Amino acid sequence: MTDSHLSATEPGTGVRARPRLTVVSGPSGVGKSTVVAELRRMDPSIFFSVSMTTRRQRPGEVDGGHYHFVDRARFDDMVDKDEFLEWAEYAGNCYGTPRQPVLDALDAGRPAILEIELQGARLVRAAMPEAQLVMLVPPSWETLVGRLTGRGTEDPEVVRHRLAVAEKELDAQGEFDALVVNTDVKQAATELLTLITGTAV
Ligand code: 5GP
Repeated sequence: MTDSHLSATEPGTGVRARPRLTVVSGPSGVGKSTVVAELRRMDPSIFFSVSMTTRRQRPGEVDGGHYHFVDRARFDDMVDKDEFLEWAEYAGNCYGTPRQPVLDALDAGRPAILEIELQGARLVRAAMPEAQLVMLVPPSWETLVGRLTGRGTEDPEVVRHRLAVAEKELDAQGEFDALVVNTDVKQAATELLTLITGTAV
């Protein structure tokens, strides 16, 4: 990886350039996918990374759209060939960001977004300190509990585990450059867009 992809200062000015790679993270149940989908509608010129995952495809998900669904052997092969910008294991499955498409988008001058979990966000921070890390947070802890508990159809043990993970993820807020509160999807997406492009809409 060369610094030219990620130069933190405008050449010759010493002024910090707008970050072009943005990581959006946040606890399970906070509404990351919904906010990112809204952002996609608002600005199709942004590059949205499509992750590889070993988890099973859910009904309604499109292979190559939501994720590239792959088996563990293919995922491990990509790890061995160092083809991921970052990857992590989450809830028993592997998730990773293919590196080249992100670098190609940045080279082409497109802002790029990764919607990934906390361990991945930390790895991006280590590999690319100039990336912008944004955490999407719920308006209150009670809201998140409500969203994760859903209609009460989930196994209480599963809900307890998800809440424990969410609590840890929220504890990492201090590691992020900005927080966006998801009270309203459209408003959260607008705030995110402002952080990415540096312009108000
Ligand atoms: P889900 O299985 O619900 O789609 O995603 C589970 C978690 O994995 C979410 O927090 C999602 O943001 C995260 N995730 C999705 N793609 C990636 C990736 O490429 N890398 C990492 N580290 N996390 C990812």
